[in-house]
Amino acid sequence: MSKWSLRGSLRNLFQGTRPIDESSWEGLEDSLILGDFGAEASESIVEAVRSNVERLAIADERELRNVLRDELAERLSANDPTLRLTRPQDAATGRLLPAVVLVVGVNGVGKTTTIGKLARFITRADRRVVIGAADTFRAAAVEQVATWGQRAGAEVVRPQQQGQDPASVAYQAVQHGIDVDADVVIIDTAGRLQTKAGLMDELTKIRRVVEKLAPIAEVLLVLDATTGQNGLSQAQAFIDHAGVTGIVLSKIDGSAKGGFVVGVQQATGISVKLIGFGEGIDDIAAFNANTFAAELVG
Ligand code: GDP
Ligand code: GDP
Ligand code: MG
Repeated sequence: MSKWSLRGSLRNLFQGTRPIDESSWEGLEDSLILGDFGAEASESIVEAVRSNVERLAIADERELRNVLRDELAERLSANDPTLRLTRPQDAATGRLLPAVVLVVGVNGVGKTTTIGKLARFITRADRRVVIGAADTFRAAAVEQVATWGQRAGAEVVRPQQQGQDPASVAYQAVQHGIDVDADVVIIDTAGRLQTKAGLMDELTKIRRVVEKLAPIAEVLLVLDATTGQNGLSQAQAFIDHAGVTGIVLSKIDGSAKGGFVVGVQQATGISVKLIGFGEGIDDIAAFNANTFAAELVG
C-alpha cells in the first residue's frame, strides 16, 4: 500500500454495472471538475474517454473505469519525470562538476522541506550533497535549512553575514561543492520579496552567477497541491521567468485533490518529477504516472 492516498472524487464513480448513458458523461465531467482537474482538462478527458468507450464498444460503467485510468495514465506520462542529476564535465579541465539544483516557489509551499527530503534521498545513495542557504530574506530560513541539512547528512553553506546577497551565497555553495567534489548542490531560495519583479530578478541573478561555475541541472518549482488551480496561477511567474525544468508537488497527503497534477502538466507542459506526502524526511517519491492514475481512479 502506498503511504499516501488522494481524496479525489473519482473513486466512487462507476462502481456498478449500470449501462452507460448521457448522465454517465455528465457525472464524469462534474467529478473531474470537483477533483481539481480544471475545466479545460476535464472537458478534454471526457471527450477522449468517450471516444475510446465508443470505439471499444464498452457498455457498462465498471469497464469505463479502466478506460478512464488508462487515459489518465497516458496523459500523466506525456512528460518525462526523470530527475536529471548527472554531473556535467568541465569543458576546460575535464573534471566532473556537481549537478546544481535550484529550488523555487512561493512562500510556504514546502521548498525547504523538499530540499531536506531530496538531500536525504541522494545521500542515502552514498552521494555527497551540499546545500546553499540562499533564502537570506528571512533569518530563520537559514536555521531551518541547516537543521534539514544535518538530518540529511548534507553540508550547508550559510551566508557569512546577515542579508548577504543570495546570489553570492549560491555562488559560494557551488564553489564549495566543486572544492569538495560534491555530486549535487541544492540551492534554497526565497519565496517572497517586496515585489514579484524583485523576486524574479533575484532568481535570474542567482542563475547567472551560478552558471559562471557550473550549468544548472534542474530548476524545481515546488507547488502546494492543496492550493489547487489557484497555485497554478501563482506559479506562472516562475514558469515564465525562472527556467523551470520540473515540478515538485508537495502536501499531497493533505486535502489535495490529485486532479491538479493532470491539469498542471497539461497547462504548463512541465513534468511533475517528485511528490511530497508529509513532513518527515522520507516522505518523498519519484513521480510515477501509473501509480498516480491508479490512486486517482482507485
Ligand atoms: P518554504 O517556505 O517553501 O520553504 O516551505 P517550508 O519547507 O518551510 O514548508 C512550509 C510548511 O509546509 C511547513 O510547516 C512544512 O512542514 C509543511 N510541509 C512541507 N511539505 C509538506 C508535505 O509534503 N506534507 C505536509 N503535510 N506538510 C508539508
Ligand atoms: P552584480 O552583483 O550585478 O555585479 O553581479 P555579479 O554577476 O558580478 O555577481 C553577483 C553576486 O555573485 C555578487 O554579489 C558576488 O558576491 C557573487 N559573485 C560573482 N562572482 C563571484 C566570484 O568570482 N567570487 C565570489 N565569491 N562571488 C562572486
Ligand atoms: Mg524555505
